[in-house]
Amino acid sequence: MTRNAHTRETCLELDKADPLADFRQSFELSDGLIYLDGNSLGAVSRESKASLIETVERQWQPDLIRSWNTAGWVDWPTVFGDRIGALIGAAPGQTIAADGTSINLFKAVVAALRMQSGRKVIVSSKDNFPSDLYITEGAADLFEGTEMRLLPADAEEVDVIALLDKDVAVLTLTHVNYKTARIWDMKRITNAAHALGVLVIWDLAHSAGAVPVNLDEAGADFAIGCGYKYLNGGPGAPGFIYVAKRHLGVAKNPLTGWLGHASPFAFAESYTPAATIESFICGTPQILSFAAMKGALDIFERTSIAALYKKSQALTDLFVDLVEARCGDAGMVLISPREAGMRGSHISFSHEKAFALIQALIARDVVGDFRAPDVARFGFAPLYNSYVDVWDAVQHLVEVLENEEWKRPEFNTQKKVT
Ligand SMILES: *Cc1c(COP(=O)(O)O)cnc(C)c1O
Repeated sequence: MTRNAHTRETCLELDKADPLADFRQSFELSDGLIYLDGNSLGAVSRESKASLIETVERQWQPDLIRSWNTAGWVDWPTVFGDRIGALIGAAPGQTIAADGTSINLFKAVVAALRMQSGRKVIVSSKDNFPSDLYITEGAADLFEGTEMRLLPADAEEVDVIALLDKDVAVLTLTHVNYKTARIWDMKRITNAAHALGVLVIWDLAHSAGAVPVNLDEAGADFAIGCGYKYLNGGPGAPGFIYVAKRHLGVAKNPLTGWLGHASPFAFAESYTPAATIESFICGTPQILSFAAMKGALDIFERTSIAALYKKSQALTDLFVDLVEARCGDAGMVLISPREAGMRGSHISFSHEKAFALIQALIARDVVGDFRAPDVARFGFAPLYNSYVDVWDAVQHLVEVLENEEWKRPEFNTQKKVT
């Protein structure tokens, strides 16, 4: 298909030929809804619902506290960690599901700083997700004299490498940029950092479940990420943390809760960390949140990240082509990389009225999101988004722009969550 030669019919044909099309049946999306925000909160699946009900009715209700053993709840952080690990190129025993992304980042930054005594600099990027910068700042505050060194927003790999030296303790970057979707070359950056003795923490919030990642092969030291974005684990899903095998037993979790203890049920008076990845667990796992995530992970195990990323690239290419062909004169400026292999599974355009545009689209049941100051962001989840979703979303966008619907006052008032 040549660029811009698409019609709604050709998109329907692409759906017919799509080997992943059947997965959409698993997701309960309302009729007419075009959900392009799975990068912020993944959709609910029948599998997740069934798993929640099973956990409540067959485990919690009849077995109560016995379920920690009988249903294996106590092992869910490591069991789910390994299942997530399989999606991010981590061999078993290095990943746990626990807490949330911000908390796991705190654990990783503090652990890494402690391994780097004498080094006083943390490098990150100005366009990293704010929580990552705040958490890193907060961790730096605990280590006197530690300072942040930030890359400018449009930095390239060479700029990252140029900013590193032997004063740098930790480099922390988000693999797929939350605004632009641009992907860092994980292996190249990690290798360059290691050559200078710098430890690297990768945030996989917008990567896990969408983009090929190979932590072991890249030699990553630590990684963290979200369970509720592309992994579809549901609101409040556990996040995850990866600690490379070579660091286990050395890297220390600063949140020394009882379940990270070498033998929690010895109820010893003082803390001895487990020698395994379990030392990065803090307290009791959120079992109902794990239950929802269980259903979601079952779905991933019926396909592959490679197949998902292939479709993701086709969906995002189609979206870019259609928006540029049909809305190009309306001030939509692509800020995501044009080359599909350089980006994650969302596409962002800047537009002067991006906030109101997104509100007007949401009123039409086309759900994307706005990121300050002027970014309209659209996530494409290959498990449940179709080619015709892309066509229809762009059709709505064309109409919103042509009718200047974004001018309406109700689309110009900001809510608490954007
Ligand atoms: C979504 C996101 C987070 C969210 O952190 P929570 O602790 O789950 O609220 C953190 N970092 C990045 C890069 C994100 O995209």
